[in-house]
Amino acid sequence: MSLAPERYKRQLALPDITLADQQRLAETHIAMIGAGGLGCAALPYLAAAGVGHISIYDDDNVSRSNLHRQTLYKDSQIGSNKAELAAQYARDLNPEIQVDAYPKRFGDGDINRVRFDILFDGSDNFETKTFLNTLSIKHEVPLISASVNQWQGQIGYFAGFAKDYPCYHCLFPELPGDARNCNEAGILGTSAGLTGMYQVHLLLLALLGKKTAHPGTVLTFDFAGMRMQTLHLKKDKTCPHCKDAEIDWAPQKETQDMVEMISMTELSEKEHIIVDVRRDDEIAVDPIVSDNLIHMEVSTVPKRHEELPRDKLLAFVCAGNVRSVQAAEYLQGLGYDNVIVLDKFSV
Ligand SMILES: [Zn+2]
Repeated sequence: MSLAPERYKRQLALPDITLADQQRLAETHIAMIGAGGLGCAALPYLAAAGVGHISIYDDDNVSRSNLHRQTLYKDSQIGSNKAELAAQYARDLNPEIQVDAYPKRFGDGDINRVRFDILFDGSDNFETKTFLNTLSIKHEVPLISASVNQWQGQIGYFAGFAKDYPCYHCLFPELPGDARNCNEAGILGTSAGLTGMYQVHLLLLALLGKKTAHPGTVLTFDFAGMRMQTLHLKKDKTCPHCKDAEIDWAPQKETQDMVEMISMTELSEKEHIIVDVRRDDEIAVDPIVSDNLIHMEVSTVPKRHEELPRDKLLAFVCAGNVRSVQAAEYLQGLGYDNVIVLDKFSV
């Protein structure tokens, strides 16, 4: 998919979110299991942040008693499937991402068929949470799970398949005695909303490689007292579900050194060569005028890079600042020190 920086400009304005991070979000595939109170709160931000592929599983239809907390749905949609409605909402919000609806329960076959980067557990019962934990361990996919019961909420980030990180059962060795779902236990809509929002916040921080969001992070909420606690849980070495895990797994994907981006004004003060990696048809309608310009379509860079001088500052440019980052990072990987990305929106 393409990346439109305008849409993500405000999050990219944060000094610690780079275009490479944004690209990583775009390449991420999340399974959202359950599109109830937690999913409804999380999905808009997941889609809006640019998570590139979201598969939503829910076999349930909207009922009137859902509406006080499942705020993606309208009264006129009572009786319709939640996965399909939620997916349409996310597609309307961000047409640049792929959102699939599965009006069914999530099963072992689904995770076998597709490789997910993270499982988002928006289910409302412990049987499903236990099942998702088993799948997480078996298929080596991290799990971000949450639950709300009356005024209590909790969220956990689990990776029981890894030797250093806990699974869901390290936190809950036995199912809580009052494991009722919110249909039975009662809940204020904002308690579900806040939990879902923190759950997606934790997920985004994890995807962005924030050290504060690592497996074992557990947040607990007392919504009546408006208190929150953050715990860092270790693997329970006696946990029958995950104690034998031997995988050495690092939650954060490796990121290369960030390639700096520069504006046309800043670039003009330095000796440079602009490397335009767009296609001919793009250049024909929007040419960049410069005396120091080389046209090298991005796909030809691996073959042609030796035509580029190593002793000059090479400023890569494309239409949306994605291919230029790819090309610059590729050259950086080959040992070119003097590479930079020219911000096309400044040209
Ligand atoms: Zn465990």
